Amino acid sequence: MIDLVDTVRYTTQMLTEQWASGRDPEALAEVQAKRLRELVAAARDRSAFWREHLGSVGEEFSLADLPTTNKAQLMERFDETLTVDDVRREALEEFFQQPDNLGQLYLDKYVVSHTSGSTGQPLFLVQLPEHVRLLFALQAARGHVSELSLSEIATRLTENVRLAVITLQRGFYPSSVAFDFMPRGADTFIDVLRVSSTDDDLIAQLNEFKPTHLTAYASTLHQLARSAEQGELKLNGELQQITNISERLSGAARKHYVKLFGAKVLDDYAMGECLFLSNGCLDGAGMHVNADWAILENVDESGQPVPPGTPGAKVLLTNLANHVQPFIRYEITDRLVMADPPCDCGSAFPKIARVEGRATDQLWLATPEGPQPLSPLLLHMGIEQLVEVREYQLVQHEPGEILIRVEPLHGGQLEAGEVEAAVRKNLTEHGVDEPLTLKVEVVDKLMPEDGKSKFKRVVCTVKPPQ
Ligand SMILES: [Zn+2]
Repeated sequence: MIDLVDTVRYTTQMLTEQWASGRDPEALAEVQAKRLRELVAAARDRSAFWREHLGSVGEEFSLADLPTTNKAQLMERFDETLTVDDVRREALEEFFQQPDNLGQLYLDKYVVSHTSGSTGQPLFLVQLPEHVRLLFALQAARGHVSELSLSEIATRLTENVRLAVITLQRGFYPSSVAFDFMPRGADTFIDVLRVSSTDDDLIAQLNEFKPTHLTAYASTLHQLARSAEQGELKLNGELQQITNISERLSGAARKHYVKLFGAKVLDDYAMGECLFLSNGCLDGAGMHVNADWAILENVDESGQPVPPGTPGAKVLLTNLANHVQPFIRYEITDRLVMADPPCDCGSAFPKIARVEGRATDQLWLATPEGPQPLSPLLLHMGIEQLVEVREYQLVQHEPGEILIRVEPLHGGQLEAGEVEAAVRKNLTEHGVDEPLTLKVEVVDKLMPEDGKSKFKRVVCTVKPPQ
């Protein structure tokens, strides 16, 4: 049964977001500034932490006047950082202990989740169902291969999108919880199959469901591609769109998968703190920041903005929609490179050219003065020059020694020597002249170590110097 009210409401929101993406840059900046003022006012009025933290900031301010914040600060005084007074850290801890609570709103109001804590303590996240609705509406309006029009909506009413979502096992982690709360109204247009990348019958389930849309991590896409190459996965050309929600594909793998699956491949970059941060560029690699709903600042080690084309050291995130748990200039240790505007696809939203994962993913050179940091990005850029690479992994246990493990694409030929040469050439071009021992191993398959967690592209056990 279609619930007409929900369907109309959701459709209206999709169309509103579609329309909003056509704003010119000035109008976009105006909306952003207005929402930022509202967010700051809400945070200051209703949260003890933010009142103190924003202390000296007056009524008139620019973004750069606002102090930055980080996870440790927000978790230390968790209860006080919220603008509501019925959510307590201790009670949430108990809620997360009960697997029965998966799919349940906390206090019948809040969508709650927590991060994995892979980079320290987990962060608890509190949002409203409307924020999940925004995520789905933006995805439909801006991150979708076919343009949203009334006739497209009518078609989708009768021929539902068949969306296969492949993640890890269900849990309280943000992307899993988001699919637990797919908004009413969206289900009029979308049939969802949720599968885990570790399900033994993953391929059989996909063959049966024949998704038109597929959302997965890059490492799962590799797994599916291997299966399609061997003729086991058969989607009968029904697939239209693949959305990669974690880890970046190499340029070669992306091109190959577009052909192999006959579908567009879009990248999303987001985090639990702001699941609707970006949508994949419809023209290819990279993603556009939904700058009317979030602000992403790419900055260097000292917090100064870096220009497009230059890798940053971290990002500052401001979530303009969530007033329950404000994130204002919140530090995330991801390294990324912004693209020079404008984008060929016509989007006015700022574009992230590439994301290189956690800044904590660090490699080390050996120098007479001791270990010196080396960005994995410099090795990545070299490997990216090779057209036959599906996936790679950088392993380091001693400063100055790196093992590069590479998996060629199906039928592709890779020689250890050419990988080493490509990497060395790029390092030299970027002025890295310290001696470095590189070992290259060409392997059949690169997978997450236990088959259960996300794939780690950089594995480094070297302890940073004190
Ligand atoms: Zn674009």
